[in-house]
Amino acid sequence: MKVYVHIPFCHSKCAYCDFYSVARSDYLGRYACALLNEWETRRPEETVDTLYFGGGTPSILPPETIIEIVGRIAPAPLRELTVEANPEDVSKEWIETLVGRYPDIRISIGIQSTIDSELKAVGRRHTARQALDALSTLRAAGVGNISADLIYGLPGQSPDSLTESLSTILDFRPEHLSCYLLSYEPRTLLSRQLAEGKITEASDALVEEMYQKVCEMTSEAGYRHYEISNFALPGREAIHNSSYWNNSSYIGLGPGAHSYVNGVRGANLPDLRHYLETGGTGVYQEEEESVDSQFNDLLITSLRTARGLSLREVEARFGAAYVDRLLSDAAAGLETSDLLLSDGVLTIPQERWLTSNSIILPLIIA
Ligand code: SF4
Repeated sequence: MKVYVHIPFCHSKCAYCDFYSVARSDYLGRYACALLNEWETRRPEETVDTLYFGGGTPSILPPETIIEIVGRIAPAPLRELTVEANPEDVSKEWIETLVGRYPDIRISIGIQSTIDSELKAVGRRHTARQALDALSTLRAAGVGNISADLIYGLPGQSPDSLTESLSTILDFRPEHLSCYLLSYEPRTLLSRQLAEGKITEASDALVEEMYQKVCEMTSEAGYRHYEISNFALPGREAIHNSSYWNNSSYIGLGPGAHSYVNGVRGANLPDLRHYLETGGTGVYQEEEESVDSQFNDLLITSLRTARGLSLREVEARFGAAYVDRLLSDAAAGLETSDLLLSDGVLTIPQERWLTSNSIILPLIIA
């Protein structure tokens, strides 16, 4: 079983972020108790094999608290333990304590850019210098599995400045890279700034140029592009996150966390106060999901990966009628080579992943 632990605290709110998090860091001890309480009420029979601390800002937690949570949720050795970290939190003591207990720990670090003006434009608290120092600190402490996050399409970013950020990060040879296109989510500060004309959104042509640059540079550096936003050195694909694209079961703990257990989706109420008051109990609600919606989920997640969508899997889960319908809806895409069919697996060529929405849309069951 895969377990996601949500840490809904941040030092401050970034301008583009719509994740459930609050800009304060008191309550940490009370929160850890509620999390473990929730775990006790929802723990499955299966052994936990991957554990992922996401947020919010998990690096806000003292290492001792992380160790205590891991010890309770996963007393047996894990295939993968990931902790998301922000550069400004990565101190020598913080990481050395974690590595001392978990030598194979994977750290996913939010670098986003190595250009100070770009970081400032979206309200990140760290500087480029802090980002590079954090990468050095992680390596010096012996972390052998680093995933670095980068954003393209930032206000004021150019293909040249993106190249500079990416090549600076690649110099550290992180085992994994996640490169996300900036999105303007409703009710964020960035969306307001856009509406007020204070910033401009990158054009489609600029975004396409940046995406191709990322693909080219990572490929030349030996990374495999295995999902629309994810690149890994051979054998270093994210195990936990791959479960989201492979339709494996996972349990999410904490306010706002989502779960998918044996084909049933559910979510916790995104309300920290309520979560603390109830000690993490009674906040999980299963969601009704129709068969068509389950099929759409599989379609959307699979077609943005190098693995693609197996027609055998579609038939096994949904029946032959779904395969027939899919092949009929995919005919136009197969003719234009937006879709490829080989050995019973449907894929979108990697160079078209950026515009995959328009290719997937005709295949969705409305
Ligand atoms: S982007 Fe990360 S650090 Fe920034 S507010 Fe969102 S969760 Fe917190």
